[in-house]
Amino acid sequence: MTVNMKKPRRGSKQKTAVFNAARKLANHPTAQEIFFKAKEEIMSISFSTVYRNLGILVDDGDLITITSSGSEAHYDDNIENHCHVQCRNCGKVRDLDVPAVDFSGILPSEASGFTVDGVCVTFTGTCNNCREKTDSKGEQR
Ligand SMILES: [Zn+2]
Ligand SMILES: [Zn+2]
Repeated sequence: MTVNMKKPRRGSKQKTAVFNAARKLANHPTAQEIFFKAKEEIMSISFSTVYRNLGILVDDGDLITITSSGSEAHYDDNIENHCHVQCRNCGKVRDLDVPAVDFSGILPSEASGFTVDGVCVTFTGTCNNCREKTDSKGEQR
């Protein structure tokens, strides 16, 4: 796996702390999780500061977000094209070790009128933890 060691460009102390927190947590943390981690570096940092800096980091292309309806956004410091799988029940996100989907025949910019600069594939399902809980309650699906 290639690790992108790129440093944030527009540097504020808070932004660096937020980026470091996201990178240390690695496994697609939520803003809340990043907030608690960033506090280890800057004790006085507020959630709104963390949230604002996450937005800047995403705009700058240093982080990507994984969002789905009904769950909060998850942040990923791996900005390479890769696939995810997300649990419908708890919202947990994991990388999916499959070849990145080839979209080269598709022209989303033309179809949508958007300036499309990225693609993110997220599969959905039920994680092991949630499945065990469901099984132990005897609710087969
Ligand atoms: Zn789950
Ligand atoms: Zn990922």
